[in-house]
Amino acid sequence: AVRLTALRRRHGPLTALDGVDLEVRAGIFVAVMGPSGSGKSTLLQCAAGLDRPTSGTVEVGGTELTGLSERRLTLLRRERIGFVFQAFNLLPSLSAAQNIALPLRLAGRRPSRTEIRGALARVGLADRAAHRPGELSGGQQQRVALARALVSRPAVLFGDEPTGALDTGTSRQVLGLLRGLVDQEGQTTVMVTHDPVAASYADRVVFLVDGRITSELRAPGAGAVAERMAALESTTGGD
Ligand code: ATP
Ligand code: MG
Repeated sequence: AVRLTALRRRHGPLTALDGVDLEVRAGIFVAVMGPSGSGKSTLLQCAAGLDRPTSGTVEVGGTELTGLSERRLTLLRRERIGFVFQAFNLLPSLSAAQNIALPLRLAGRRPSRTEIRGALARVGLADRAAHRPGELSGGQQQRVALARALVSRPAVLFGDEPTGALDTGTSRQVLGLLRGLVDQEGQTTVMVTHDPVAASYADRVVFLVDGRITSELRAPGAGAVAERMAALESTTGGD
């Protein structure tokens, strides 16, 4: 579970997050939408312990992050938090298996073959262990990144536009995989997206405007999400 309380993040005079309250229960898939610059990435980075809020609290998997030292925060991130990015961020010289093993090694563990193979199998890439990122399609690379994020069995998986760099068909495939992880393994997931169809895979869609959550839809279809976004962008002037 994730609990954000009165979360604020300022950059000098600019307020990126202006009092965000959000509770994501275990086993729930939440999508975060909002105009460009509304604070979506900042929200995710603060929730995942990659950025420090100016004030407010962040609780992930029962641990309060804001009071932790840098060292303990890094450790907790490696063991309890998964993160996938739009640009995959795989190391190009390492094989898929080595990329997946990396977070466990950084946490001081020696991952077993079974563990790595299991992670690859969960994303449907059991036969690609030895391939390097350059030898994989975009969708396969994102699935390796997903396996790497999930190998430590994190309390929460965060994704910042994880399907933003993929074509429509590949994007749906990755979203189907995410939905399956939520349904079959109870993987708590928080994903930022621009795509109403992507958001429609979530259980809840929250809308961020000028650093605040202004509304929410429960299990909406893509049409309802697109309509809400269009309404928000006409009132805020979009980009
Ligand atoms: P997009 O949809 O374009 O990715 P976003 O909703 O993810 O946008 P953020 O990246 O969270 O938006 O940025 C929110 C605001 O905070 C923006 O005005 C941005 O310029 C500002 N901001 C973000 N990071 C920094 C930083 N390190 N220093 C200064 N300002 C920042
Ligand atoms: Mg962003």
